[in-house]
Order: sequence, then structure tokens, then C-alpha cells
Amino acid sequence: MQRYDVAVVGAGLVGSAAAAYLAQDAGPGLCLVGPPEPAEGAAILPHTVFASHYDAGRIQRLTGKDATWTRLNLEATQAYAGLEAETGLRFHAPVGCLYVSPHWADDYLQAAPALAAAAGVQATYLPDAAALAKAVPAYRFEGTPVGWLEGGPAGIIMPRALVAAQQSRMRQRGGRQLAATVIGAQPEDGGYRLRLADGQPHLWARRVLLAAGAFTNMTGVLPRPLAMTLKGELTVLAEVDADTTQRLAHLPALLYEGWFDDRDGIYLTGPMRYPNGRYYVKMGCNVPEDPYFNTLAQVQAWFADTAASQALLPRLRAQVEALLPGVAFASWQLRHCIIHRTPSLRPVIDQAAPGLAVVAGCNGYSAMCADALGRLAAHQMVHGQLPAGWDATWFAADWR
Ligand SMILES: Cc1cc2nc3c(=O)[nH]c(=O)nc-3n(C[C@H](O)[C@H](O)[C@H](O)COP(=O)(O)OP(=O)(O)OC[C@H]3O[C@@H](n4cnc5c(N)ncnc54)[C@H](O)[C@@H]3O)c2cc1C
Repeated sequence: MQRYDVAVVGAGLVGSAAAAYLAQDAGPGLCLVGPPEPAEGAAILPHTVFASHYDAGRIQRLTGKDATWTRLNLEATQAYAGLEAETGLRFHAPVGCLYVSPHWADDYLQAAPALAAAAGVQATYLPDAAALAKAVPAYRFEGTPVGWLEGGPAGIIMPRALVAAQQSRMRQRGGRQLAATVIGAQPEDGGYRLRLADGQPHLWARRVLLAAGAFTNMTGVLPRPLAMTLKGELTVLAEVDADTTQRLAHLPALLYEGWFDDRDGIYLTGPMRYPNGRYYVKMGCNVPEDPYFNTLAQVQAWFADTAASQALLPRLRAQVEALLPGVAFASWQLRHCIIHRTPSLRPVIDQAAPGLAVVAGCNGYSAMCADALGRLAAHQMVHGQLPAGWDATWFAADWR
């Protein structure tokens, strides 16, 4: 049985960042454990898990919902240039981020100017449709829209490339990586024995950091479940040609946070290259039909087949076409994803048991601050507490 000082379970955005920071101290005493992304159409086994980051683009904003989210976002972006330079992997496109409320200034817009000023974020308040049309002519909004436009380093991050960069840095620092799915943990010998799927030999670690995102309660690692809800998300990929890709190359990412009868929480990224070599505008949103999950089998069924959701494609397609009038789209694809929410709607960094910590609680906004969350979780593992100046109660877990 391989023995390590620290094991990080979950090789996603947060776990890979945490592992890269932990490897600074632990070197070969650290092991990052997680399965690779399942191949499209691959058979789903009883232990198959997915992730929230299997996509080409995630929005990076700076001003968050409060001062702590804002600090997390800013500190994450401050790490990008160094990580790109060190690994040679490009994952950050600082094209800016536009937040729009279609119904006057909502809570976020009322708080944003003061939060931004306190954090030194440069942004432009766009009080009406005319100001929005002048600042970002490609977009069109209904209602009485009000906007908030942040320039770089706000924009887009490429989550698969960011994960690859964190893992590359971790390996350069001597850390080890194991492609495996954890199916259980038991205290043993002052640490934890981790059971792995597919008959792989067990692994022992003195300390374990669980960073399994939506699958946190499905790993068999926690002694009691973390309070969270799991929700299916729909996204639509709208294919664009080379000319449109070029024309929209600097389109700011969009958070269109209005409530409409049959959709809300709309977000959009401009043309990104997908693994098939084509370019797509991506839009996602909540719809009343979104499913909620309690079991891994339900999640697996959601990822296995989008047929049941195809009837919703026209609704999403109409929204993309309304936001980007005059753009010709060559094809449309519906995708299934998963997010999880905590009761506090904030990320969790907490201790589950002696030597066992958890970082989770994406709440739909944690790709943009994954580097900072990983750094804080790593610090807590090493020092038993968050760095000075961070409020542990903000990150405290609710246990079920
Ligand atoms: C459609 C969609 C759009 C989003 N858009 C944005 C956005 O624009 N901006 C933003 O900031 N955030 C966005 N998010 C949220 C963001 O993607 C998540 O916050 C982020 O991925 C969370 O990172 P994570 O590492 O916690 O989880 P994940 O990235 O999901 O990684 C979890 C990892 O755990 C692994 N794992 C699971 N179970 C096991 C196990 N048993 N053993 C070992 N490993 C395991 C998985 O393989 C996975 O790699 C979006 C989410 C979705 C679904």
C-alpha cells in the first residue's frame, strides 16, 4: 500500500490548485487522487463520477457578492500570469466581464461600486440601455437594463487548461498523481486508508483533503454528509464561423442575472475553441425544469443522455439569438452539467474530522476563485487554520 503525508481527493479546479500549493511543502509526500474526464460516450460504471468543469470556458469576474468573494476572485487572478509563465499553458483570456440586471439595479449592482472601490477594482457602471449599447454593441438586452463592466483580468478562464496547469506545477514540485476514484475511507494508523475503485491497491495518507465538488458526499470519505443540494444545469453551444469568431474575439463574458418566467441566472461566453476544433458561443441558465439529485445513479443518468432535455433547446436558443442579434449560428448542441449549492451559498473550507478536511461548495462561482480556494485549503491543512485576515466562519461547513 502506497503511503503519503497528504492525499487530495478530487483532481478538479480546486483540488488541483490545493495540490499544487501543498506540493510546495510536501513534495513527493503529496498525492492528488482523481479520475480523468470520462471519454464522451464511454460506458458508465457504478463508480463513474463527473465534474463541474468539463467545458472550454468559465467566467472570471472580479467584484463578487461580498468582500470575501471579491478578495478570492482578485487573489485568484493575481496567480494566473505566474502559473501561465511557469507551465507554458494559457488558460486566461482577460476580455472583461459584463454583469447586467434586466430589471433596474439589483442587490449586486447596488453593492458593486463600494465593493469594487474598497478592493481597487476598476469598472464602469452602465445605467441604461443606451450606455450598455455604446459600451458593448454586440449585446442586446430587454427590459430596463443596468450594467457593470469590468476590464481584464476579468474575462474567461479555460478550466481544463487551468486544471492541467495546476497539475503540471504540482508535478514540477515533486507531487504525485494517481488516476483513481476513491470509494471509501477509514481511519487507520493515525491517518486514513483510502479505498479505490477498479481493484486498485488501497492508499494510506496521514492527512486527507477532500475536494470532490458536487460528488463530496458520494466518495465514502466523510463521516457525515456536508449539507448541499445538487442541481442539473443546461448549457447550449452555438457554433460560429471563423469570421464571427474573429469579430467577437474580445466580447466580454456576460452574467445576465435577471429573472424571467421560464429562465434565470443567464451567462454567456464568447467564441471558444472546443475539443472538436470548432468554435462555439456558450450560454447557460437555470430553468424551472432543472432536476435535483440525491444519488450518484441519478447524476450518472443525467450525464449519460440529453434526450429528455432536447425540448428545452428552442428556449435557450431563442435567448442566445436575442442577446447576440445579427450573429449567424451554424449548429446547436445541448449539454448537461452539474452544480452544487451550500445552505450559506458560500464555499466551504472546514475540518470534517482530525486529519480530514473538506473544500467544496462551488455555488456556481468557484471556477473564478479556484486558485485562491485551493491556496486557503492548503494553508489550513498545513497550519490548522486559514491565513491571518480570513474569517473561518465565512467558510464554515453545515453538516447534515
Ligand atoms: C455549466 C456550469 C457553468 C459554470 N460557470 C461558471 C463560471 O462561469 N464561473 C465560475 O466561476 N464558475 C462556474 N461554474 C462553477 C465551477 O465550474 C465550479 O465552481 C468549479 O468547477 C468547482 O471546482 P471543484 O474543484 O470544487 O469541482 P470540480 O471542478 O467539479 O472537480 C471535482 C473533481 O472531483 C473529482 N471526484 C469526484 N468524485 C471523486 C471520487 N470519488 N474520487 C476521486 N475524485 C473524485 C472529479 O473527477 C472532479 O475532477 C459553472 C458550473 C457549471 C456546471
